[in-house]
Amino acid sequence: MRTLLIVDLQNDFMQGGALPVPGAAALVPVINQLQPHFHLIVACRDWHPPDHCSFAKNHPDKKPGDSIECAGYLQKLWPVHCVRNTPGAEFATGLECDRWAKVFSKGTDASIDSYSAFFDNARRRSTGLAEYFIARGIVEFHVVGVATDYCVKFSVLDALELGFQPIVILNATQGIDLQGQDTEEACVSMRQAGARLVPTAFIN
Ligand SMILES: [Zn+2]
Repeated sequence: MRTLLIVDLQNDFMQGGALPVPGAAALVPVINQLQPHFHLIVACRDWHPPDHCSFAKNHPDKKPGDSIECAGYLQKLWPVHCVRNTPGAEFATGLECDRWAKVFSKGTDASIDSYSAFFDNARRRSTGLAEYFIARGIVEFHVVGVATDYCVKFSVLDALELGFQPIVILNATQGIDLQGQDTEEACVSMRQAGARLVPTAFIN
């Protein structure tokens, strides 16, 4: 069953949103074109409570880009983004969602962030995605969305560790590149961990 995972294609990550990923809006038509070629489509979304620990605003004297210790790991701080039930958390304008089988929410616990579509950053709790794939016998799946150097990367690395075979479609992903080379480094680490990265999806 050809399966597609769409990562965090939400308004706040688009141009004009709270935490824009450069070029993310250009992914919408690319991903819309891909969708008819997949039998099963699932998505994940950032779905934060307003008091989420990853928001710089919730920590005195901190600004986006700073880091704090949170649940025993280093948490990078971001602008307020993807607050549940707000327009910024809705899927990107124009993105076709009608064939999606399921949406997995992450970052729903105020005390911990979740870059991966599978687990929170401390791996305390599963989002249910792994169990969903396992129940359907899905091993290989394609990945698209944002950001290549955060949520796509961590989703792919977790997938590999869980025994799945993720394939990243590069022309349907975008990185945020806070450090300039982040996307390139993310691609190297995904490849080294065993992921396949393809420039575009084969369509047949
Ligand atoms: Zn977030």
